[in-house]
Amino acid sequence: MEQNKKYVRLAADLQSDSIVDGPGLRAVLWTQGCSHHCPGCQNPQTWDFNGGGLVPISMVLEAIDELEYQDGITFSGGDPMFQPEACNIIAEHAKKKGLNIWVYTGFTYEELMKLVPKNKSYLEFLKKIDVLVDGRFVEEKKDLSLLFRGSSNQRLIDVPKTLETGNIVLFDENKYMEKEEQKEVPMFV
Ligand code: SF4
Repeated sequence: MEQNKKYVRLAADLQSDSIVDGPGLRAVLWTQGCSHHCPGCQNPQTWDFNGGGLVPISMVLEAIDELEYQDGITFSGGDPMFQPEACNIIAEHAKKKGLNIWVYTGFTYEELMKLVPKNKSYLEFLKKIDVLVDGRFVEEKKDLSLLFRGSSNQRLIDVPKTLETGNIVLFDENKYMEKEEQKEVPMFV
């Protein structure tokens, strides 16, 4: 759709400085619209596909240009995978700016791959993603100790390696935690 090439439906303005939506300091793009309706979802106000606001993609790209000190951008919502064309354009721009890309979706990776033959934008978007946090939020599997996800059915998928091998490769949480622990504690004298 032509409209999808020019607009993205968002629940809020681009936020910066998040430390809970992936590694480092991150900008977060809150997309609007989700039909998964997971019981216990923290953002039910983002479900309505007519809610939020239609924002010109050019404005989002400008907001990305103005970001400072961010390591990456996280697409959340809502579910960004209901707007793969728009998110693909935004991800391409963010990638060129050197931002790593994390995406939260209620779809599983396998479900997304089944959508690819009908709409190539899914694959184009996936190719730009570093880590996909996939699957619906399942209240019975909620676990606050999990890294960057809410329930134990959700996976942190290393998308480049998964696409390369054709098998699900998970983000190396142990390596990430080791690096975090090795970070120097600032000395104040
Ligand atoms: S996929 Fe995410 S936004 Fe959608 S209902 Fe589930 S938890 Fe909420």
